[in-house]
Amino acid sequence: MIDPFGRAITYLRVSVTDRCDLRCVYCMSENMTFLPKRDLLTLEELDRLCAAFIRLGTTKIRITGGEPLVRRDVMRLFGKLGERLGHGLDEVTLTSNGSQLVKHAETLAASGVRRINVSLDTLDPVRFGQITRWGKIEQTLDGIFAAKAAGLAVKINAVAMKGVNESEFDALLAWCGEHGFDLCLIETMPMGDISGDRTDQYLPLSVVRARLRKRWTLQDTDYKTGGPARYFDVKETGRRIGFITPMTHNFCESCNRVRLTCTGTLFMCLGQEDSADFRSLLRAGVSDDQLEDAIREAISRKPKGHDFIIDRRHDKPSVGRHMSVTGG
Ligand code: SAM
Ligand code: SF4
Repeated sequence: MIDPFGRAITYLRVSVTDRCDLRCVYCMSENMTFLPKRDLLTLEELDRLCAAFIRLGTTKIRITGGEPLVRRDVMRLFGKLGERLGHGLDEVTLTSNGSQLVKHAETLAASGVRRINVSLDTLDPVRFGQITRWGKIEQTLDGIFAAKAAGLAVKINAVAMKGVNESEFDALLAWCGEHGFDLCLIETMPMGDISGDRTDQYLPLSVVRARLRKRWTLQDTDYKTGGPARYFDVKETGRRIGFITPMTHNFCESCNRVRLTCTGTLFMCLGQEDSADFRSLLRAGVSDDQLEDAIREAISRKPKGHDFIIDRRHDKPSVGRHMSVTGG
């Protein structure tokens, strides 16, 4: 699948639920209204859509949410996707908050998952509670170590927030080095109403990187995961650090991905509203050929890039939907 700007679309991110057991301040408001279950694609519908994408050239699928591991029976989907590994599909990955990993890490590994991303913005238990509104850090840490014990490579994702966790990146980098995890820092993106002022939280990663360089030797590397992060080797730890900078850097030129929501809506760009509805197609009983045609048509509408701007006067998000809808 080649989009109108010559980019090969090989990466599908699939949100399997909009629900979550946490309420991170940059992601959700405290009182979220979640979708009724009947609106969600069934696991079979999700698998059928994934299979169609794989036939059309998708080689990497990331399962995300909301918190993907709170979706009931989600391991069944991992099992089915695992069977497609080596048959067009090269990699199945997961982005999780880690809270349910103690329960699921071994099954994930047995399904063929090799790498996962776990979100952890702080190592401070009190701050963790504040950022996630009601999360318990022990649960996430136990999950992370269960994943490591199951043989999964873990990358820690941390959203950089001014005045919240900005003093902690040295410690996080050292902790990741100690335990053999890569670290990826993410700038806050203006998505979804979160009942708070986001412009106060925004911290450009160019600033963070300059500060880190005072203590760490960050060496340029060609390492790529197929994602938008720019990576450096950290000489002192032997691990990597990545920076995802949608706000200070245009990360669209090499975009290879599209995003499917749990209701079967395909967004061709994280930062744009244009979409394609696959749920109604699936439920109208389309053939596989028709499904593939609809996917090709959607890819032909992939825009050149996003246009994130924080509207400072009105403090409105530039994209109305929450990150938990399209899965980040
Ligand atoms: N619940 C899982 C988790 O937290 O990893 C998966 C879904 S979450 C929406 C995916 C990623 O998006 C997380 O790393 C989270 O920190 C990040 N995220 C959520 N809202 C964001 C925002 N407004 N700006 C930047 N990153 C955000
Ligand atoms: Fe849940 Fe992940 Fe959003 Fe936090 S970032 S509220 S863990 S979906």
